[in-house]
Amino acid sequence: MEAIRKATVIGAGVMGAGIAAQFANAGVPVLLLDIVPKDATNRNSLAEAAIAKMLKTDPAPFMSAQAARLIQAGNVEDHLAGIADSDWIIEAVVERLDVKQALYRKIEALRRPGTPVSSNTSTIPLRTLTQGLGPTFARDFLITHFFNPPRYMRLLEIVTGPGTDQALAKRVCEFADLVLGKNIVRCKDSPGFIANRLGVFWMQVGVVEAIDAGLTIEEADAVIAKPMGIPKTGVFGLIDLVGLDLMPHVTASLAAALPANDPFHAANRDLPLLQKMITEGYTGRKGKGGFYRLNRAGGGKSKESIDLVTGAYRAERKPELPELKETAKNLRALLSSDSRIGRYAWRVLGQTLAYAAALVPEAAEDVHAIDEAMRLGYNWQWGPFELIDRLGTDWLIAKLTADGFPVPALLRTAAGRTFYRLEDGQRQYLGADGHYHQLTRPQGVLLLEDIKRRSKPVLQNASAALWDLGDGVLCFEFTSKSNSLDDQIIALLGKTIAVVREKYKALVIYNEGRNFSVGANLGLAIFAANIAAWGEIEKLITAGQQTYKALKYAPFPVVSAPSGMALGGGCEILLHSDAVQAHAESYIGLVECGVGVVPGWGGCKEMLSRWSMSGLLPHGPMPAASKVFEAVSTATVSKSAAEAKELQFLRAEDGITMNRYRLLADAKARALELAEHYVPPTPVELKLPGAGGKLAFKLAAEGFHRRGVATDHDMVVAAALAEVLSGGPADLVDVVTEDELLQLERTAFMNLMKTEGTLARIEHLLATGKPLRN
Ligand code: NAD
Repeated sequence: MEAIRKATVIGAGVMGAGIAAQFANAGVPVLLLDIVPKDATNRNSLAEAAIAKMLKTDPAPFMSAQAARLIQAGNVEDHLAGIADSDWIIEAVVERLDVKQALYRKIEALRRPGTPVSSNTSTIPLRTLTQGLGPTFARDFLITHFFNPPRYMRLLEIVTGPGTDQALAKRVCEFADLVLGKNIVRCKDSPGFIANRLGVFWMQVGVVEAIDAGLTIEEADAVIAKPMGIPKTGVFGLIDLVGLDLMPHVTASLAAALPANDPFHAANRDLPLLQKMITEGYTGRKGKGGFYRLNRAGGGKSKESIDLVTGAYRAERKPELPELKETAKNLRALLSSDSRIGRYAWRVLGQTLAYAAALVPEAAEDVHAIDEAMRLGYNWQWGPFELIDRLGTDWLIAKLTADGFPVPALLRTAAGRTFYRLEDGQRQYLGADGHYHQLTRPQGVLLLEDIKRRSKPVLQNASAALWDLGDGVLCFEFTSKSNSLDDQIIALLGKTIAVVREKYKALVIYNEGRNFSVGANLGLAIFAANIAAWGEIEKLITAGQQTYKALKYAPFPVVSAPSGMALGGGCEILLHSDAVQAHAESYIGLVECGVGVVPGWGGCKEMLSRWSMSGLLPHGPMPAASKVFEAVSTATVSKSAAEAKELQFLRAEDGITMNRYRLLADAKARALELAEHYVPPTPVELKLPGAGGKLAFKLAAEGFHRRGVATDHDMVVAAALAEVLSGGPADLVDVVTEDELLQLERTAFMNLMKTEGTLARIEHLLATGKPLRN
């Protein structure tokens, strides 16, 4: 079967450019074409401008600035013939049938037969897009609906038609999954597919019900959020994020396409306030503001929000909702509460869940597709059917009936049962046929979530657990809040080393939290500091150093597999692993200086040795020390795994997995591969730059201080870091052992912990979540 080695994306707007960037992130060359603007001197200006803009966008569409070089900019008049050597052609032009079809005719004349052509349309059905284009085109055509922004949104909805070659569709899906890292949800050829069909209904209901109930937008967004496992943007905050101006387009297109008896029509009321805001340029975060805005008038920065009754801005009001606190852990109690908030929560969620149930089998083959679409496309923690299971199908049916809402057929089918169940450790879902079906994971997908459902931990304490992945590989999981590191984790890691050594082949360090680890638990550190328990703090530093070192020299391979943030001690564990298999979206860094300390669990030591052995720097101890000083003193965090390689937080040979679901299986495979002929690393010895280095770092820091970039306490921290990296007070410039370096880290750490500036930084971060620049 033909591989996809090169692609073309046509339309360099928000979506097309972002999709092209994701191909580039995956290392696949891509041609990006747009129209030739009128009177243009540069005929490629639209595509070129799109690339230039992406290089400045935050959050960044590119995983590394290098990736941009893989996109070739062009235009559809001069370069369309280039599609002949593309293995996948993606159309992402304006949402107009005539424009898309005219383009397809040109594509048809130039592409190699058998090359997949797909549209990124959000609203036009596949049967309409392919009308009149002939069976050969229809055979190779499908819809690939990416979400905005394409790098970060994991959902990819796929629609095929009756004429689509299924082998070709499979090839596209496999590539999108393995190489682009997207999670495929197959949808029926129905309006809005799955995520937007349900998501737009939910947002629309959220708005109209808030208006009817006389709630403020702050109240509405507090209710339709955390209690339901929905991101804190709620409904109004989310509309600000996607753009108010998009709403009328999508609601109008859904209204035009859906049959008259669809519940969407009842929710789709005219919203004069929304119209007025759009006309006045209040289109959300991309415009002057939306339902929420930051008013900078008079040089100030005040948070304001729209009053739904008057339509005017007023100061943002923190909602006082005691009912929400009382029912925080009990969604059913919230939806049953006969308060303003309870009734609103019920009317929005009840109708949304019922609508979800009505979409099987019309829009989706099964409930799992809908749950997956909402989790990945709207970042819901639980899909609608998982929410129904929490509430109980019978409870939901009774409440819908009591309130005069129709009960969809699928809910009746499920009466008395749950949508998901565990049978012999295997998760099953209830089909529209009334039978349970096995929920199978694609090959190469291994989830700890599944292993935890069907087995007991090998070891466990309050902050960590150890699981058996089979084939002789164990998995160490952090389970503390935000996966912060504490004495319990260090202790269990120590025990783990003994267990693996005794009876297993390899260890993987991995978890399925949003972040791999945010670093050491600062709450514990400040508690100890406040009672001057310095001995306790030093003991933890020593224990961490010794345990990480033991991990590095253990007689079995250790593979760490981060996703999200791996900061401070979380980064140091990666640095001590034999190999890292990182999710492409890994944000790695030694951020200790930000809170007024230095890396104390071997981070300075490992980074020094990495840079010295990288072969990238001139000879001598100073260049490596400078690199470490630069990254650590500024608390640099990589914005992707690719960037982490550039910063040496990852080695060139460390693996990167694009699809989050495939990370654990890839890490396990790497661990087994290493276990074949495993030999632990040999201890390294390092040369430090001594007094000369210390002086150079001091001068550099003073320069930053003079320019106002470094604060007073930054100078204290930088001086301590300079001590570690240059050889300490005794100028250990001869060959230094790892233990000597660890001693330097420990001394610097403890000295800083005793300064007021550092304690103020830690306290401030814990209290506000923001760094203190003292
Ligand atoms: P956009 O307006 O940002 O960009 C469209 C681009 O297509 C423009 O740069 C335009 O110059 C170009 N174009 C128009 N006609 C062309 C032609 N004949 N040949 C080449 N280029 C042409 O639009 P967008 O938001 O990127 O949307 C593109 C597609 O993706 C639409 O089908 C839309 O429905 C869909 N979509 C959008 C989103 C979203 O959030 N914006 C999400 C999913 C899908």
